[in-house]
Amino acid sequence: MALSFWEQRWLDKADIVVVGGGLVGLQTATELKNKFPHRKIWVLESSVLGDAASVRNAGFACFGSAGEILDDAERMGLDNALSLYGMRYQGLTKLIQKYGQTVIGYENSGGNEIFTNANDFEVVANKIDDLNRGLLQFHDTPAFKLKDLTKLGMKIHSHAIYSPLEGAIQSHLLYETVRKHAVSSGVELFSGIQVGQLEHLPSKKWKLTCTSGGHNTNHFEIEAQKLVICTNGYTRWLLENEEVLPARGQVLVTKPIPELTFRGIFHADKGYIYFRSLGSRILIGGARNLAFKEEETTESISNDKLVASLTQWITEIIAPYAKVEIDHQWAGIMGMSNSRLPIIEQRAENLYLGVRMGGMGVALSALVAQKISDLVD
Ligand SMILES: Cc1cc2nc3c(=O)[nH]c(=O)nc-3n(C[C@H](O)[C@H](O)[C@H](O)COP(=O)(O)OP(=O)(O)OC[C@H]3O[C@@H](n4cnc5c(N)ncnc54)[C@H](O)[C@@H]3O)c2cc1C
Repeated sequence: MALSFWEQRWLDKADIVVVGGGLVGLQTATELKNKFPHRKIWVLESSVLGDAASVRNAGFACFGSAGEILDDAERMGLDNALSLYGMRYQGLTKLIQKYGQTVIGYENSGGNEIFTNANDFEVVANKIDDLNRGLLQFHDTPAFKLKDLTKLGMKIHSHAIYSPLEGAIQSHLLYETVRKHAVSSGVELFSGIQVGQLEHLPSKKWKLTCTSGGHNTNHFEIEAQKLVICTNGYTRWLLENEEVLPARGQVLVTKPIPELTFRGIFHADKGYIYFRSLGSRILIGGARNLAFKEEETTESISNDKLVASLTQWITEIIAPYAKVEIDHQWAGIMGMSNSRLPIIEQRAENLYLGVRMGGMGVALSALVAQKISDLVD
C-alpha cells in the first residue's frame, strides 16, 4: 500500500532518528531533545508494546554481585569488571534522580548473593575485602558484607554476601514513566515501524527502509540527518558485523505464597540465577547457562528445560516449605558479548550506537543515553 501525500509529508526528513524504543532509545531521544529543542527527533519502534527487554525483565536495580564481578574479571580483567559495576551504579543513581523513586516503584531492598555450598561461598567471601577496596572509587560505603540468612528457610549455605546498595523497581512503571517523559519532552514516538535496511547517502544523510503493520502493510523510506541505533539484542538484523549476540532470558512468577519468608532481590550461580519477592510472589529468572547456544536467539519463547530448572530452584532451594504454583512465564531478549561492556560509539559519519546492555541494562540505560547524547553534535 502506498503512503498518502499527507503521511509522506509527516514522515519527511527527521533531524535525528533513534531506532529502538526500549529504555535506552527513549532516554537517548529525550536527552537529544533536551540538547536540541528545535530539532525533529523521532523514535522508531517495531513493536507496539515494546517487544524486547525493557518491559520483559526482572526489575532488579542491581550492579553485579561479588561472584559475578569475579566471573567478569576472568573474562575482561578486574579493572574493566569494576568499571562496568561503576557505570551501572552511576546509571542507576542518574535514573532515580531523573524520575524519582516512587514513580518507578524503586525499593532499596538490598541484594543478597546466595550459595548452595560452603566451598563456593568461601571462594567469593575471601575476595570481598579486595572488591570493596576497588569499589570505593564509586561510593563511600562498602559494596559487600556478610549476612546470616539462616532464618529464611532456604536450602542454602548459612551466609550470603549482602549488597546494601541494590534494590528493585517495577519494570512497567519505569518503562511507562520513561516513555511519557520522552513524548512530553517533544520526542515523536512511532510504534509499529520496523526498520529493515540502512543506506548512507552521498548527501551524508541516512536512508532507512521501513515497514509498518496494521490492516495493510506499508513499505516506505525515511531520511535522517543523524541516526542512533538502540536495538540491543536485535542489532545484527540491521548491522550484521556488530559484536552483539542475542541472549534469551527466561522469567517465571509464582502465585502468591502466604508464608513467603523473604523480601528483596537475590542472585546465585555467578548471576545466572536471580529471584526476588513481588509482594508475596516469587519472580525467578535465568538459567541461560544450561543452554547457551540454544538461548542465542531473538525468538521470545520459553525454553522448557530452563522453566523446569527454575521451578526446581523454587521448590527445592528457595521455598521448600511452601506449595508453589507458577502463574506467569515469559522470555525476553538481551544483547550480549564476551566483553560484557556496552557499545556506546559513533560508528560512521552521522551514525551512533548504544547497544549491548547485557543483563543489567536497567541500571545502565540513563548513563548510556547521556553518553550517546554527548557524542551527537
Ligand atoms: C528476562 C530478562 C531479565 C532481565 N532482568 C534485568 C534486571 O533485572 N535488571 C536489569 O538491569 N536488566 C535486566 N535485563 C536487561 C535489561 O532489560 C536490558 O538490558 C534493557 O532493557 C535494554 O534496553 P534497550 O533499550 O537497550 O533494549 P530493548 O529493551 O531490547 O529495546 C530495543 C528495542 O528495539 C526495537 N527494535 C529492534 N530492532 C528494531 C528495528 N529494526 N526497527 C525498529 N525497532 C527495533 C525492539 O522492538 C525493542 O523494543 C533483563 C533482560 C531480560 C531479557
